[in-house]
Amino acid sequence: MSQLVRAEGIILHSLRHGETSRIVTVFTRDLGKVGIIAKGARSKRGRVGAALEPFSRSAFLYYHKVTREIQLLKEVSLLDSHAGLRNKLPHLTVASALSELCYLTLKDGDPHPDIYDILDESLKALDAAPANPLPLLWKFELGLFAALGFALSLNRCSQCGKELQPPFVGRVGFRFESGAFFGPECARERTETNGTLSTETFAALAFMSSHPMAMALKLSLPDSECRELQSFLGKYLSFHLPVRARLKSLSALDWEEKDREKNI
Ligand SMILES: [Zn+2]
Repeated sequence: MSQLVRAEGIILHSLRHGETSRIVTVFTRDLGKVGIIAKGARSKRGRVGAALEPFSRSAFLYYHKVTREIQLLKEVSLLDSHAGLRNKLPHLTVASALSELCYLTLKDGDPHPDIYDILDESLKALDAAPANPLPLLWKFELGLFAALGFALSLNRCSQCGKELQPPFVGRVGFRFESGAFFGPECARERTETNGTLSTETFAALAFMSSHPMAMALKLSLPDSECRELQSFLGKYLSFHLPVRARLKSLSALDWEEKDREKNI
């Protein structure tokens, strides 16, 4: 028996199927990730086509059958195409990274309205074409870590309990397993840290975690701290979930970075 389901969702992935159909992976707000086949979708242009493009937010009506891996689309209507983010490569790359992170870290049928709302907010912010879209990816990753149960503990030193208030003299230590941070003195005494961050990189992390997205977007970091932050977040994610290595969109970002270095 199949059941008719109505759900709002964001397209994470879209694939051609056969001559005329399309299979999309939709991150629905209330029902989690779901695979849906849209039969004959490729012969329909205009709003139906746009409603099934990656990053689009759409309203779905589909037949759901528990025993089936891919559900069957009845109707779809476009709510927001996020046209603004499609014009610039860096913004498109960050949007792809966000979608890919959701695609690879979420399980089918496991609802995460908290992550859905951050994704929706991030895509809207990308539409406005901020000068530097990278802080959106970092802010999103912090939200993703928290929603998946491995939030970073940025407020207090996990050794002595003192409040962590940059700037510091010296580097801040961290442990991947617990998401814990240690002030420079405790980090020097401790031997079992996984590594250290510069005071500027730690300050950027703490700022992003305690400020709304619009403020986080104003963050401006020197290139070396940018790389340190990017690398820390990537390693932390792959410690907890073995996905980062497979993020195609992010290797595109790395490639851009290397390319920029070559041009200097
Ligand atoms: Zn301490």
